[in-house]
Amino acid sequence: GFPTVAVIGTGISGLTCARTLVDQGFKVTVFEKSRGVGGRMATRRAEGSLSFDHGAQYFTARDSCFRRSVDSWLHDGIVKPWTARIVALEEGSIKKDKQGVDRFVAAPAMNAVCRLLARDLDVQFRTRVMPVKRVHNRWNLTNDREKVLGAFDSVIVSAPAAQTAQLLRDVPALANEATQAQMSGCWALMLAFQEPLNLPFDAAFVQESPVSWIARNNSKPGRGSTGETWVVHASPSWSEANLENAAAEIENLLLEEFWQAVALPERCPSYSEVHRWRFALPIEPLPGRCLFNDQLLVGACGDWCGGPRVEGAFLSGMAAADRVMRSIQGDNAATKV
Ligand code: FAD
Repeated sequence: GFPTVAVIGTGISGLTCARTLVDQGFKVTVFEKSRGVGGRMATRRAEGSLSFDHGAQYFTARDSCFRRSVDSWLHDGIVKPWTARIVALEEGSIKKDKQGVDRFVAAPAMNAVCRLLARDLDVQFRTRVMPVKRVHNRWNLTNDREKVLGAFDSVIVSAPAAQTAQLLRDVPALANEATQAQMSGCWALMLAFQEPLNLPFDAAFVQESPVSWIARNNSKPGRGSTGETWVVHASPSWSEANLENAAAEIENLLLEEFWQAVALPERCPSYSEVHRWRFALPIEPLPGRCLFNDQLLVGACGDWCGGPRVEGAFLSGMAAADRVMRSIQGDNAATKV
């Protein structure tokens, strides 16, 4: 039969890898610890009508291969240009406009691209995979309740670097490489207001502040909520320094910093919530597009080895699929001779 592949993780990298392999006739099973797809291309819903992109904010498309996919998503209407006024902000005043690059968002929410990629894939949710084990030339997967998930010819891990290193600890060379890719955390604050704040911009890179980014989430196409929703990201250094602090304390501090950043008097949000991303962004991605061992048919992909961000994660997933295809098809060709 067709070779079987397990992909761990349903962020953009894992799903791109799985999708590509399925399109080539591989039998792929995808495992995801949470309840839905998207990973860091995340959407948080609250109080019925509120929605926040609390992870990835937008993406750019510089690579021609990624751009072709983005064009098809634009055509399908699940990706839209985000034509927002984005500025650099310092102590409440606008320093400059940050135009000149095409920014895209998924619609109606950031996880829409991943939902499309996953549409007809075999995805098992709420399944936290434990470190993979090599048994009789195959990869045995189990979950955290010691349930056997199956034996596969090949496995691709698409979790953030530190988690990938754990999952691949039986393949020390790859685990060591993954360990080299450091990632920084990010505290995210989600806010809703019944009355508009009437700020003269939709999003801002904030300078000289614990806050590094603020965005009016409802300025993105298709979000359609009443009132205003804002997403606030703390800077990597502030987030790292405060990563283990209590959420309630972080929420208060970031709310104060938000008012400082926009230079408005404080008022009470109608909704407020914080989220901690333990592994948000790679500090310095590994040079290769993915990790892979051709003999053992095991590898890893993600933004920490494909180049940072959504585009890099996508390209990493493509590269991992390509390595699986070439190893297995190359193998078959060799046996035929
Ligand atoms: P992920 O999306 O992290 O996917 C990994 C998946 O693996 C997750 O779904 C996780 O649940 C799952 N998983 C992990 N361990 C296991 C396990 N043991 N078993 C089963 N499943 C497991 N990028 C941009 O391009 N533009 C931006 O503006 C931007 N802003 C960002 C802001 C924040 C706050 C964050 C957090 C990220 C941002 N990024 C941005 C980065 C972007 O989100 C990532 O580069 C990209 O989404 C990474 O995709 P991935 O597939 O590599 O990993």
